Amino acid sequence: MDINELLKKENLNRDEIVYLLGLSDEKEINLLLERADEVRRIYCGDEVHLRGIIDFSNYCEQDCLYCGLRKSNKKLPRYRMTPDEVVEVAHKIINKGIFTIVLQSGEDGYYDTDQIAYIIYSIKQKADVAITLSLGERDFEEYRTWKIAGADRYLIKHETANPKLYAAFHENQKLNERLEHIRFLKEIGYQVGSGNMIGLPNQTLEDIADDILLCKEYDLDMAAFGPFIPAPDTPWENKKAGDVVLTLKTMAVARIVLKDAHIPATTALATLDEDGRIKGLKAGANVVMPDFTPSPYREKYQIYADRRCVNDNPDYCRSCLQLQIESIGRKVSSSRGDSFKLLSHK
Ligand code: SAM
Ligand code: SF4
Repeated sequence: MDINELLKKENLNRDEIVYLLGLSDEKEINLLLERADEVRRIYCGDEVHLRGIIDFSNYCEQDCLYCGLRKSNKKLPRYRMTPDEVVEVAHKIINKGIFTIVLQSGEDGYYDTDQIAYIIYSIKQKADVAITLSLGERDFEEYRTWKIAGADRYLIKHETANPKLYAAFHENQKLNERLEHIRFLKEIGYQVGSGNMIGLPNQTLEDIADDILLCKEYDLDMAAFGPFIPAPDTPWENKKAGDVVLTLKTMAVARIVLKDAHIPATTALATLDEDGRIKGLKAGANVVMPDFTPSPYREKYQIYADRRCVNDNPDYCRSCLQLQIESIGRKVSSSRGDSFKLLSHK
């Protein structure tokens, strides 16, 4: 296949996506990344959207083989922040000029419908910020209540579009059920983000192509493609981490295919490569998700080993990121950074 012709195409099919993911020639890979950067500029502009994450609980009822928070990991010290602590941190994030708050946790039923609604409502009282929930699979009626309380977005990664791999990595969950949650969340008006992990055992380039195509089929507002990183005290602690270059190629192809979806330069990528955030932003990404969970909790949110910035003081995070972003001629957005799809339908 001629790479220049391929990169000019408006739509890529599965074989073409697999071909691009398999590129090994450095010059051709650079052409792919440059094309993704150009598509990002056309559809998303030069602004980078910051999403402030609060990892408010590391308890989890699930047992995903890859994750350090899995319930069978008895070595991890567990914590839960109180709803008022969460609201206080959210207000600090808003005061730093960040207008999306991501509330993330393991699947932790300790927080009932009302407690989460209270957190959402209390944060919204302060400012016109967007709230993203990333709480795993919850009851459909809860999603509805939280939408009414003011939640805007839901992040729920499909992890892999290959149902056999999905079943092998999740004892109690099925891919089709995960996809039902995604469909329902979209139906009731959430902006929905999903995505995969790269470098899962037995994952092929065809599987990754299917991950990208699934994000297209579901017309997702946000799509995150991050490398798998082994987590201590899990069955996968000795597996190999995902490949940085394959992750960048995946993000680039995803940008070309998905066009106006938000794509983050993930913390997992920055963990494997100290320039990972910048490399990601140059490979199609337009979002960064800094962690504002306070100590002593942040070091206990060990989904994988040695998470980037985990030992840094979150107070300096905003200015550090701004410097990095401006060093490549981009700028930090001062808006909520809602879905481009939503904006174009208004
Ligand atoms: N519990 C919720 C869920 O699973 O949707 C939200 C929190 S969970 C920790 C967020 C994401 O972390 C998962 O969707 C998964 O992609 C990612 N993750 C978990 N373990 C990982 C690992 N070892 N390496 C890279 N990413 C991982
Ligand atoms: Fe729990 Fe999410 Fe980790 Fe799975 S990925 S074990 S649901 S925190």
